[in-house]
Amino acid sequence: MRRLHLIGYPVAHSLSPVMQNTAIQALGLDYQYSLMSIPPGELSSRITELRDTLIAGFNVTIPHKIAVIPLLDALDTTALAVGAVNTVVNTGERLIGYNTDSTASVRALRESYGDLNGCHAVIVGAGGASRAVANGLAPYARSIKILTREAPKADLLASQIRGRATVRGDSIGKAVEAIHSADILVNATPVGMMPNIDASPIPAEALHPDLLVFDLVYNPERTRLITEAETVGARTLGGLSMLVYQGAEAFHLWTGQKASETLMMDVARRSIGGRGA
Ligand code: NAP
Repeated sequence: MRRLHLIGYPVAHSLSPVMQNTAIQALGLDYQYSLMSIPPGELSSRITELRDTLIAGFNVTIPHKIAVIPLLDALDTTALAVGAVNTVVNTGERLIGYNTDSTASVRALRESYGDLNGCHAVIVGAGGASRAVANGLAPYARSIKILTREAPKADLLASQIRGRATVRGDSIGKAVEAIHSADILVNATPVGMMPNIDASPIPAEALHPDLLVFDLVYNPERTRLITEAETVGARTLGGLSMLVYQGAEAFHLWTGQKASETLMMDVARRSIGGRGA
């Protein structure tokens, strides 16, 4: 049996094992996906374990998505552009890093929004997920504004994004003004996530009917931001499809097989309690 892992700290609440193992069993493959908790100070010493040829690859989550890069042998072009890795393939000789969050976010957005060319996007947050979405959108969007609690963090990320879009950073305090002329609003912060489900990263008065609101938070499936966006008549997209798409792309990189995204979605939704549509 070949092994797959999720490395991170903490990892206990991840939906990846249930999604990946369901897809593996459906195809009758001889793989098993399990959690590997690695505290921040132990990553470089534990990477040798992950080079074992019985390990086909692994996912990477907080806080290792950037720290893992110097420990790998190569990066694919998306991981290189994003500057973060969420999937690693073990070829037996080399560990190769990928970023399936970025491609998954664009795929999910395109399905809900349509043609992304020329869109104006606002992304709240400047962590790993924001970096993945901003890089994914940059070849298509006309403008991207990144909003954070501390504007210099947004400015720094904005200065690192390459593509067709004009990318600028600003303070989250400027949300109403920034979102007024936007087509797409992305929440790339954990605000609204279980158990703090009454929180929203954006004041409701910033929302308008011409927006598509993409909340990367998937637990709960219907966040306060999504509910408030629906109330003003905006289109909405929760984080579950991106989660499934990034997992299915990783599955394909490891096994060469196509996972059932419908099964992965169903089992993920059941695991978070099946709230909402
Ligand atoms: P991260 O690297 O820790 O970044 C989090 C960002 O959110 C930082 O910019 C942080 O700002 C900001 N933030 C945190 N608390 C905030 C608050 N109370 N108000 C305003 N901003 C706040 O995390 P990440 O990996 O980017 O993940 C962000 C979210 O996306 C998480 O909820 C994660 O579950 C979700 N996610 C979903 C998917 C998916 O497939 N759907 C994939 C990846 C991530 P500071 O720097 O100022 O603290």
